[in-house]
Amino acid sequence: MENDNDGNGTNLQTMWTPMDTKKENETKNMSKPEMLQPILEQGKTKTCTGCHKTKTLNHFNKDKKGKYGKGAKCTECRKIENKQRYKDNKNKIKENVKNYYEKNKKEINEKRKESSREYTKKYYNENKEKCIEKTKEWRKKNKKHIKKYDKKYKKTNKEKIKKIKHEWDMKNVEHNKIEQQKRTRRLPERVWATHSLYGHKRNGCEIKITIDELEQIAKNTKNCEYCGHELIYRAKQKNDRKYIPTLDRIDIENEIRLDNIQILCIICNTTKLNRTHKEFIEYYKNLSKKFNDGDNKNATLELATNGDNKNE
Ligand SMILES: [Zn+2]
Ligand SMILES: [Zn+2]
Repeated sequence: MENDNDGNGTNLQTMWTPMDTKKENETKNMSKPEMLQPILEQGKTKTCTGCHKTKTLNHFNKDKKGKYGKGAKCTECRKIENKQRYKDNKNKIKENVKNYYEKNKKEINEKRKESSREYTKKYYNENKEKCIEKTKEWRKKNKKHIKKYDKKYKKTNKEKIKKIKHEWDMKNVEHNKIEQQKRTRRLPERVWATHSLYGHKRNGCEIKITIDELEQIAKNTKNCEYCGHELIYRAKQKNDRKYIPTLDRIDIENEIRLDNIQILCIICNTTKLNRTHKEFIEYYKNLSKKFNDGDNKNATLELATNGDNKNE
């Protein structure tokens, strides 16, 4: 166990197996003469009846009836024998295993589960940081899959989630109060950016910017890009609503990108409707031409310049 510092954890499955515990228990339950056996065995040899080679005792399995308490055949020969026996009786052995499993299904599965649970727990406790890092990595790589799974889980466990959430809320009344206060105290630009992006997403737009980015743009946009009126990000009076900022896609593309948006007051945006920037400006030019009688600021300016030119 202490030797697992290779840093990749791949051989951990082989590190601890039920076999190891068996061995441990065997050593624990050994009587003194048995524990001394390895020392007594040193130097003694025995000839295998299989391969007829003379080998030291550690090459033989335990057998109470044999000479020196060891079997007649060496471990090598045993292995070969067992392999052959398995080959000869493959189907029968497989069937026996299958039958045994069928008979004791419940118990075996329970034991397997228990052992796996214990192993996971033990491994986690010994490698907490590594586990957390690995989980993070996995989540990053499987974002799509997780999203799909979460959606499905939420759908099939609605009541359960509701219950857990309710229980949590009851336990955390104070915490929730503070969070709620934090939310209402949040900057109006932030709230606006969040709502705008969600709204566009709901309408089928592809969002290519973050809430942070839009919040920053909002903070830098104090006035409507068209009419120049001050934008009111948190409307308090009914009259303020005319100048609520709206997110406009300059040329009505399906995407929301940094380079194709502007913030307009709601009046300008509803007037623009589904026109591109060019179409909208053209519309206003025509309107201006039709009703131009000198009241228009631009028109006066034009007249003034013309007048200057004439004076020259
Ligand atoms: Zn042998
Ligand atoms: Zn405007």
